[in-house]
Amino acid sequence: MKFTQRINRVSLKLGLLFSSVFLALIFILEMVLYGVFTNIFVDYVTQDLLARGNNHAKILEANYNQSTIDHVVTMEKGSRTAVLITDAKNQIIASSVKPDQDMKSHILENGTVKKNEVIEKDWNEHDYLIAVISIGKNNGHLYMYYPSKIIKEIVLVLKILIFFTFIGTILLSFGLIGILSQKLTRPLLIMKDATKRMAKGEYEQTILIKGNDEVAQLAKSIQSLGEQLQEYEDTRNDFLADVSHELRTPLTYIKGYSDIVSKGMYKTSEEQAEYISIINKEANRLSFLLNDLFEMSKLQVGKFELKREKADVHIIIEKVINNLIPAALEKGIVIKDETAIHLPEMYMDVQRMEQVFYNLIENAIKYTDKGEITVKSYQQKEMIVIEIKDTGIGIPSQDIPKIWDRFYRVDKSRTRKTGGSGLGLFLVKQIVEGHGGRIFVNSVEDVGSIFSIYLKSN
Ligand code: ADP
Repeated sequence: MKFTQRINRVSLKLGLLFSSVFLALIFILEMVLYGVFTNIFVDYVTQDLLARGNNHAKILEANYNQSTIDHVVTMEKGSRTAVLITDAKNQIIASSVKPDQDMKSHILENGTVKKNEVIEKDWNEHDYLIAVISIGKNNGHLYMYYPSKIIKEIVLVLKILIFFTFIGTILLSFGLIGILSQKLTRPLLIMKDATKRMAKGEYEQTILIKGNDEVAQLAKSIQSLGEQLQEYEDTRNDFLADVSHELRTPLTYIKGYSDIVSKGMYKTSEEQAEYISIINKEANRLSFLLNDLFEMSKLQVGKFELKREKADVHIIIEKVINNLIPAALEKGIVIKDETAIHLPEMYMDVQRMEQVFYNLIENAIKYTDKGEITVKSYQQKEMIVIEIKDTGIGIPSQDIPKIWDRFYRVDKSRTRKTGGSGLGLFLVKQIVEGHGGRIFVNSVEDVGSIFSIYLKSN
């Protein structure tokens, strides 16, 4: 993998980001700790120096003689600290160690008197932390020294610790980058490969990613997108096959019968008229089919714009019924209009709703041989319900869920006679749902069917 590819990996970016934040935080924390520690430690040491110096000064004040001085000096000899005593003229008279340059340089000038004070705290620049205490009023001073070397050693240990924590953090960060790349980048790469394959047309992909976090959910979404695409592809292929089949059948009839007519292959003029009537019927079928297909394609590509206007559903239904009465009468069927007159007006696309009622009532006529068709409308809470009931052949229960599909016809040979395309109910459902409504069917074979539309009344 090239360096730029590596640097582009999300895990590396995130890992580097986390590590820098970690390191910055640790740096700040350790700096604070370092500052606090050195200050507290230095304070502690200087206070201790003052306390011990005070004790020595008190003993000396009480008994200021050579033996007490020797005693004080001996006491300090075994310890880390050192003591130095000067007389009233600030001349060194005793010391627990051999005074070096830094010790001497802090001895007060003749005539200066300090009572009880830390005179050196800067352990970085000087060899000692120094406290000075006066011995009584005129007996000179006592100096207490704490070697800066000890503090420097402790600080060095602290610095080494900080260094190792830093190294530890960096190693941890690399571990983190590794884990991240396992947990995050790997699934992303799997998904990338899957989408690449999907782009080549292999829509159905199994993307195995454990868990239920956002990444796993994304994987599931991609997988279901693939499944949907596959379904879409299958439907499209089925659709194209259906369309070509649907177009081919009437065209075969038209071609066959027009051949017969044009070649004069008929015996009587009645026969000729019959063939021409078949040609005409099939041409009509083609025309209806193309019309339905055009409608459907508009619905499919989202050009399905509803031109809503305030309308009275009763008036629309009445118009459709009046137009279809002749066709019903031809089959000896009565259409009963039981639509309620005073229903609230609704916003709807009048032309499309007309199409819905045409399709449903036409179907009722088509699939009913005797009896009647009843069209009802009424209000049920905030819904307007429209029912189209027939006493026709009904729909077998196993076909009921499928009748809304494109080109689905219960009995192809039967609908061949009735001239259906199988698109009618599909369009009806799209239009009703486009209006925010629902459509259901209740049907019993050889008893009849009821199609019920529910539309919101406001
Ligand atoms: P078609 O143009 O074939 O009528 P539709 O989409 O309108 O197509 O209807 C789909 C199928 O549903 C029809 O082929 C028919 O078998 C069945 N169907 C629709 N309405 C009725 C009904 N009122 N009675 C019985 N069967 C029906």
